[in-house]
Amino acid sequence: MVSPKAESNAPPPHFLNLLILLANLLILLANLCKININYAIMIKNLCVPYKDFSLWHITQTWSDGHKAFDIAKPVGSFGIWLVAMENCIVENIMGADNLDNGWEYERGFGILLRSIANPDVKYSYWHCLPFFPVKIGETVLQGKPIAQMGNSGYVVSGGVVVLYKDKLKPPYLGTHCHLSCPSDTMDRIDFTKEIKFDLLTTIYLTLFSISNFLKGR
Ligand SMILES: [Zn+2]
Repeated sequence: MVSPKAESNAPPPHFLNLLILLANLLILLANLCKININYAIMIKNLCVPYKDFSLWHITQTWSDGHKAFDIAKPVGSFGIWLVAMENCIVENIMGADNLDNGWEYERGFGILLRSIANPDVKYSYWHCLPFFPVKIGETVLQGKPIAQMGNSGYVVSGGVVVLYKDKLKPPYLGTHCHLSCPSDTMDRIDFTKEIKFDLLTTIYLTLFSISNFLKGR
């Protein structure tokens, strides 16, 4: 039994509906703002890390324990050219001449790039071949080849550590790139940006890489 007094104190049903509607509108507004903010930050201005790259090539994704993407083509990755995903400065090259530190050896040969547009953003490519067609301090434009994918350092294939004797012969077990980068890197790739370099450029890059290697940089 509801007394007439209690009934008069209860809010009318349409008032409650109005409150629920208002709350929903606020949630909707908050979501819209969040989407807009994310959209503003996530400008798709990167190119792919190598020709014909697909998101299917990610073998290990970014997490707190692995702040990188492991990427490789299903076949034919050994020696393919890795490129700068945006305009960068070559900050360091971990080549054959400075591969003496324990943890560096684990990741093999590598290169560290720093974004010119946003100097807080860094990209490093690991497990490369020891040949690099660029030098420390050089400015590299988006799409420029900067290293070659390999299987240097500590790499695993089918759950088994790949031994040195197996690395330089087909099928080049363990070949991949450990691309250490911001977590939103893959979301920022514009797949319509094609990377192009012709055969002549490839020959030049190869010769330049070997020359750098022999000079010991
Ligand atoms: Zn990795």
